[in-house]
Amino acid sequence: MSFSPPVFLKESEENNSKFVEIQQAQTTSTVSEDPLQNLCLASQEVLQKAQQSGRSKCLRCGGSRMFYCYTCYVPVENVPVEQIPLVKLPLKIDIIKHPKETDGKSTAVHAKLLAPEFVDIYTYPCIPEYEEKDHEVALVFPGPKSVSIKDISSHLQKRIRNNGSGKNDDPDKPSVKRKKAEGQDVCDFSESKWKGTTLKRIIFIDSTWNQTNKIFTDERLQGLLQVELKSRKTCFWRHQKGKPDTFLSTIEAIYYFLVDYHTDILKEKYIGQYDNLLFFYSFMYQLVKNVRCSGDKETRKLTH
Ligand SMILES: [Zn+2]
Repeated sequence: MSFSPPVFLKESEENNSKFVEIQQAQTTSTVSEDPLQNLCLASQEVLQKAQQSGRSKCLRCGGSRMFYCYTCYVPVENVPVEQIPLVKLPLKIDIIKHPKETDGKSTAVHAKLLAPEFVDIYTYPCIPEYEEKDHEVALVFPGPKSVSIKDISSHLQKRIRNNGSGKNDDPDKPSVKRKKAEGQDVCDFSESKWKGTTLKRIIFIDSTWNQTNKIFTDERLQGLLQVELKSRKTCFWRHQKGKPDTFLSTIEAIYYFLVDYHTDILKEKYIGQYDNLLFFYSFMYQLVKNVRCSGDKETRKLTH
């Protein structure tokens, strides 16, 4: 689906009871704890204007869309690309989506729109070959073998050691081997520097929970290091039935991964560097929230 006004209205009715639950849960926390409240975001005026003028044309495929085209991964005509923030990421992101996942529902597109140079989206079963790169790639998946973000580097180091010598074209690897061979401890600074470059690519699966399991069991992904995110509550309005509110939307998962990567692996202070990844997400969240908060009369005013 796309974010057309009638759908917003329909959704707000369907999910009203859920919203009440969320509201109740939130009363225990202060406003500042709302994860989308204090983001460092670019001006969303362009989205406000686009929302008021309604759907616009995708300049690539001609489709009529709200804000962006979810098949071409570009903003629509009334959302000029130069008014959309560009986010720089410290590593590459691959998103594998299930073919049955409805494109318009996915928040994975947000990552591609906001960090196009760093993000690639693949539709399962067409995925890259990771086998040769398993010492610098990890898969975000919560399972019994998953490790936490802060432990990624040490687990990848083990793989480098186990993979043995030869076949490497990676400038990081010889120095690591040399240090190990000399039996020297690496000083804190170079350790953190080195750790920052170990992981080069992180993979996210973008689908419902059942489909995620199917993709996860693909043998091409089975050998990869699995990483689990810290538990955080979702703000997603398409919260999946029967799933806990810690089941994040894809863009939330990417965002939180990067925040933790920044502090736990790069060892740098997080000052909002990746907040703009939530540029569309926070706007849509607010929109849905406003629709749900207002009565029918207000809703009609907002959506017509
Ligand atoms: Zn298009």
